[in-house]
Amino acid sequence: MARIAVVGSLMMDLVVRARRPALPGESLIGRSFATFVGGKGGNQATAAARLGAQVTMVGAVGRDPFGETILASLAAARIDTRFVRQLDHEGTGVAVPVVFDDGSNLIYALPRANLALAPADVEAVRSAIEAADLLLVQFEVAPEATLTALRIARDAGVRTLVNPAPVAPHPPEVFRLADLLIPNEVEAAALSGLPAADPAAQAAALRKLGPAAVIITLGERGAFVHAPDGDTCVPAPAVNAVDTVGAGDAFCGALAVRLAAGDPLPAAAAFACRAAALACTRRGAAASLPTLAEVEEFTS
Ligand code: ADP
Repeated sequence: MARIAVVGSLMMDLVVRARRPALPGESLIGRSFATFVGGKGGNQATAAARLGAQVTMVGAVGRDPFGETILASLAAARIDTRFVRQLDHEGTGVAVPVVFDDGSNLIYALPRANLALAPADVEAVRSAIEAADLLLVQFEVAPEATLTALRIARDAGVRTLVNPAPVAPHPPEVFRLADLLIPNEVEAAALSGLPAADPAAQAAALRKLGPAAVIITLGERGAFVHAPDGDTCVPAPAVNAVDTVGAGDAFCGALAVRLAAGDPLPAAAAFACRAAALACTRRGAAASLPTLAEVEEFTS
């Protein structure tokens, strides 16, 4: 069974729906409210676990009810949560997306415990990373913690996947320690300084930062794979997408599972495209992530 370590964010999403944005000073009655376990780290860990991988999560929450809810959600997906720290001095990260009738949204994100994850916390659980086939990180926790995780993995010969989402200043060493960099189109443009119209040029520029290979996700167009032995475009299956939030997380989690199992990059990317497309056909968070049987049965 593929063993994956995820060092990343854990957040509670508090989703408000409202007719329109409130004006300054106005109190507007909203339409609905719902909470979802989120954070790119937790989402990608859950995506991988639902596809059958043995997943260890490293991260931080507060010692509060949101933290308990997140830990319970991860445990329900059979993720090893022994290395998630519960901090006394900082609360669980929260995001407050406000979604309006016209489909636009505003998001207030408070990373809280995620930014309090210290290099020493990661160092203390080094064995969790060393025991994995593959390490998966994103850009939602303290950059020094991510860097520490990547150094441990590199020293132990553990393959590293870096999803630079959302783009935030990180030490250049983070890119040098990435075996595979997985940005979406927006992130690839921001990191390469090149327009989204040319993923081949973007990927070539990103490889110069250090990673041996780059996969740029292209939404409904699939993924562009740039590896030492050549470029490949992997199309996304055509689906009736009802909710594309978290598609990138479904993609990264699935990709990690197949790479840890030994698949070559294009085959792993094709599997990840199928898993992410399936996730787009369903609303919701963790529950919309497909199982291995569902991806295997899925033909578009
Ligand atoms: P993010 O969610 O980070 O913005 P993308 O939009 O690039 O990332 O989506 C990630 C992956 O999810 C894509 O590479 C693709 O495989 C899949 N995907 C996203 N949107 C669709 C869609 N409308 N139809 C099918 N697959 C999709």
